[in-house]
Amino acid sequence: ISALNAPYLGGLNDRQREAVLALDGPVLVLAGAGTGKTRVLTTRLAHILTSGLAWPSQILAVTFTNKAANEMKERIGRLIGRPVEGWWLGTFHALAARILRSQAELVGLKPNFTIVSTDDQLRLVKQLIEAEGLDSQRWPSRVVLGIIERWKDRGLAPDKVSRAELAEVASGRILDLYHAYQQRLLTLNACDFGDLLLHNLTIFRTAPDQLERYQQQFRYILVDEYQDTNVAQYLWLRALAQGHKNICCVGDDDQSVYGWRGAEVENILKFEKDFPGAKVIRLEQNYRSTPHILAAASGLIAHNEGRLGKTLWTDVPEGEKVRVIGAWDGTEEARQIGDEIETLQRRGSELKDIAILVRAGFQTREFEERFITLGIPYRVIGGPRFYERQEIRDALAYLRLIHQADDGLAFERIVNTPRRGLGDTTLKQLNEIARAQSLSIPEVARQIVSTDELKPAARRALGSFMNDVARWRQMASATHHAELAQIVLDESGYTAMWQQDKSIEAPGRLENLKELVRALEDFESLESFLDHVSLVMENAESGPRDQVSIMTLHGAKGLEFDTVFLPGWEEGLFPHPRALDENGIKGLEEERRLAYVGITRARKLAIIGHAGSRRIHNQWQNSLPSRFLAELPKENIDRQDHVGFTPPKPSGFGAQTWGGNAGGGNAHPWTSNGRSFSQRKPQTIDVEAELLPSSSGVYPSGTRVFHQKFGYGKVLTADGDKLEIAFDKAGVKKVMAGFVLPAEKA
Ligand code: ATP
Ligand code: MG
Repeated sequence: ISALNAPYLGGLNDRQREAVLALDGPVLVLAGAGTGKTRVLTTRLAHILTSGLAWPSQILAVTFTNKAANEMKERIGRLIGRPVEGWWLGTFHALAARILRSQAELVGLKPNFTIVSTDDQLRLVKQLIEAEGLDSQRWPSRVVLGIIERWKDRGLAPDKVSRAELAEVASGRILDLYHAYQQRLLTLNACDFGDLLLHNLTIFRTAPDQLERYQQQFRYILVDEYQDTNVAQYLWLRALAQGHKNICCVGDDDQSVYGWRGAEVENILKFEKDFPGAKVIRLEQNYRSTPHILAAASGLIAHNEGRLGKTLWTDVPEGEKVRVIGAWDGTEEARQIGDEIETLQRRGSELKDIAILVRAGFQTREFEERFITLGIPYRVIGGPRFYERQEIRDALAYLRLIHQADDGLAFERIVNTPRRGLGDTTLKQLNEIARAQSLSIPEVARQIVSTDELKPAARRALGSFMNDVARWRQMASATHHAELAQIVLDESGYTAMWQQDKSIEAPGRLENLKELVRALEDFESLESFLDHVSLVMENAESGPRDQVSIMTLHGAKGLEFDTVFLPGWEEGLFPHPRALDENGIKGLEEERRLAYVGITRARKLAIIGHAGSRRIHNQWQNSLPSRFLAELPKENIDRQDHVGFTPPKPSGFGAQTWGGNAGGGNAHPWTSNGRSFSQRKPQTIDVEAELLPSSSGVYPSGTRVFHQKFGYGKVLTADGDKLEIAFDKAGVKKVMAGFVLPAEKA
């Protein structure tokens, strides 16, 4: 049969078919959400294979996640009726790693090289900073690594960093560190994620014969989510496509949400320049969502400037308006959404068609709690469930040990977390004695510290830890358990451990710890809380197929669900303050695109939630509805703010927004058991302030500094670790000290 009559082409509209059949030469499909871009790409791949135009090994297909790659494999298998072997189908990282493994020697690596984690990267950079004799407070490893990674995102190996480039960062020293870092990785036979692409580019440059081989091999190149490619990825694609020039990229500038990781929407514009004669195809029919959902999303994204602009229409039946529901607080928000889901279930919806998309990881907790109470199966996609997260397990171990003095497992988990110099030898010793004398390990620990069994250093460290635990246990009777938890996390050095950790995950972990303390406030006692957690964990064991999905907005790109809940649309949470602080208007626009991505995931129903107040350390703070709510077209929205939605404002209520400073103690009248606990320090959930180590005093006013985004400037005032800086180009801005480097001339 002729491939042109193939059944898979039948289901496409004319434009889509055009995009599938335009096989010769470069093609750019630029179209809004739900217009079938991914479907075009999948069909194109199937078409190339069934028409015998290329073997699977001759097609390079790039997806945004491994999950998407697997889905595409399955879909194509179904389309062409047999499984396909020998794919080059995966993420940029996976594909580049595959090339690098077979060419490792060309960049001085062995084929079995390791890919290092973020933690390792930071440790390496830190070591190098220290080896250079630089003050690690003024040279935070995260900032240095950030600059190096941005160079890598832009395809710049150390020898490619130009003078002009260098003038943009604080100091030539960073380049030295970059050189040293790359050298060190090579010595370790390792590379980081950015290197995968970067080494590929080096190979393409230095071994033209190899490049040519790949150029010949890949007759067809297909790229999904093109708007989120960075420069290095772009250069990689461009190099590989030079052979046959059959490259097809699909994307949507309105869904570019990885600018913070170096993605450049400008790649869309470059495409037409670098591939002259490229066919640009626009798809305008949306097959996913109802008109109300589509209009709401389009109305919102229209507030962004500098868009390429596009028309979207749908002939799906009208459907329901986008619902906006206001809740009293986060707990009520979770309750409302739980109720909605039960109603949907009664009406025959399947849970797998329902998703909850959050802006920040800590938001999942209230939903998880509620779903367990209601017996609604759920899964958290892209990360562990709340109580299974490493930092939460650690914190729980502290609490368990305080609650139950003989809890040996809890003891072992945290006795040396953070590090207290208690090594494996000491633990082994404790273990042996415990077994021999049928005692619990903590009991042995308590006894052993008044003996000479241990080396003096270990004895001292263990003694001081056991003292702390005893003291906390004593406090438990007179201290509210939520406050106790906060004290334990702070005094044990556990909070500080994450504050000092500069990995990308650390801020999220600190937010989770705060959420844990908040959760404790809902319980009568530490005991009832720990019981609850055991139940929750037990519940997690069973894994039925039909589950609600909970995930971040970033993780939801490309996916679709019948019903989508979008909770937490409040100022201070969404748009996320971190994005605004760091990137100003650009950051706001990226947040708005994220909101657009969120709404357009819904097929039939989108429900947006916002809470009128959030409780932070037993204090209530008002939160304003997100500005994005006001930007949704009225006619597509059904607002259902609940009666009594505006919480009573205790006098002297300080902050207007969720991210503000709480000011004086305003214990909420409904504290969990009538007790309110005192303020040990001004509590704030200003995300940045608490997540970064304090570096106040490091930059006295008048200091010349450099900021990654705003360039050079002079410190005007310092308030804690917030600096007000007059930037040469960007004007006066408030920034976090942790993002600033001392300015030294390159
Ligand atoms: P996003 O921008 O969110 O990634 P997309 O443009 O990739 O969206 P797809 O996921 O490919 O869109 O398609 C959206 C939905 O529309 C899918 O369920 C897909 O199967 C369906 N669809 C696409 N084209 C057609 C068509 N011609 N007829 C019927 N359904 C279609
Ligand atoms: Mg898609």
